[in-house]
Amino acid sequence: MNEIVFRSITKTYGSHVAIPGLDLEVAKGSFVTLLGPSGCGKTTTLRIVAGLEQASAGTLSLGGRCIYSSAEGIFVPPEKRGLGFIFQSYALWPNMKVARNITLALTEARMAASEVRNRLEDALAKVQLKGLEERYPSELSGGQQQRVAVARLIAARNSILLMDEPLSNLDAKLRTEMRRELKKLHADLGATTIYVTHDQVEALTMSDVIVVMKGGMIAQQGTPHELYHQPANLFVAEFIGDPKINILPGHMDGDAQGPRAIFEGFSMPMAEGFDVDGPVTFAIRPEHVEIHPKSVAGAVAASVDIVQPMGSQTIVSLTVNGHPVTALIPKFAQGLGQEEVWVSFNREHILVFDKSERLCVPEKPSVREYRRNTGG
Ligand code: ATP
Repeated sequence: MNEIVFRSITKTYGSHVAIPGLDLEVAKGSFVTLLGPSGCGKTTTLRIVAGLEQASAGTLSLGGRCIYSSAEGIFVPPEKRGLGFIFQSYALWPNMKVARNITLALTEARMAASEVRNRLEDALAKVQLKGLEERYPSELSGGQQQRVAVARLIAARNSILLMDEPLSNLDAKLRTEMRRELKKLHADLGATTIYVTHDQVEALTMSDVIVVMKGGMIAQQGTPHELYHQPANLFVAEFIGDPKINILPGHMDGDAQGPRAIFEGFSMPMAEGFDVDGPVTFAIRPEHVEIHPKSVAGAVAASVDIVQPMGSQTIVSLTVNGHPVTALIPKFAQGLGQEEVWVSFNREHILVFDKSERLCVPEKPSVREYRRNTGG
């Protein structure tokens, strides 16, 4: 069942259209990330779910209950939506101790004191903050404050959680740790989660589904694996992946032997079924660039510009036919100087985008056969 359903949700600010019409369904218990560059409408979308922002048109339902409908004049206020939030600023009360920050909403909802105590104990244990409950937020590190916000979320036991860039104030090491903890939290609570970030690593590591947004619209929605390996368009291909995907302009040609990819000194046979001719853009992930010390069949000469070892991997910046190309080698590469090398690509890993920047996928043999037989 889908827990959160957007139907033609629109948001305008004066004459500015931030969300032109969003249709999105979030499955119960899933971790869905809204990912995209600054200004693409992620936060606005999340705030509309929270009720902190009212949409301009459309309908929105949570767990089968309509909470917003422009046509029917329905707007359920935030406090009646039963949601849990974490924002970039942890929104802790500075004048209240950790324990009070975590339990405030529970006591205000007149929950029995014993139940409040149980939930506090459970939440403190889950985020490993036991012993710090008598401190004020100003007496905690950024990471610990973040954990208090998470503990508050755990204690509330909401079935829907909304998180807006909750890790962006943390240093790199803590961010990695908290990513793991938030993922575990989601698994433990089983809550439907919408997570907003512009950080593609966070999106890839934590999500069941990523929704890439551009200009208030969905550029692609899918699993992290789908978005990484089969980006529907160049925007998604370039937004996801670090180091960035290599973009090489060229064209597709065909002869009796089948389709060929022609770019930067390469002329490669491609899989049967590519139904595209003329100018295209080729995109190749850095881990699919192969570097050879000697000339091999199908390889093109390249120069090594910069080598950046990162421990388990090495980023190698090359120039191929005057065009920059990045390779990612899965080891600490040594001995790569400013020398000439040869570069090749496996055709299975070459993505082809047409003039409108959409991914071209070769037709399956069965479909080709059918088309041939039916003249379609
Ligand atoms: P960021 O990653 O920078 O937070 P975002 O993807 O979350 O960006 P939003 O904050 O949702 O983007 O903004 C979407 C668009 O709506 C932007 O063009 C922004 O300038 C505009 N916008 C957001 N809030 C308002 C407002 N209160 N008044 C006018 N325009 C707004």
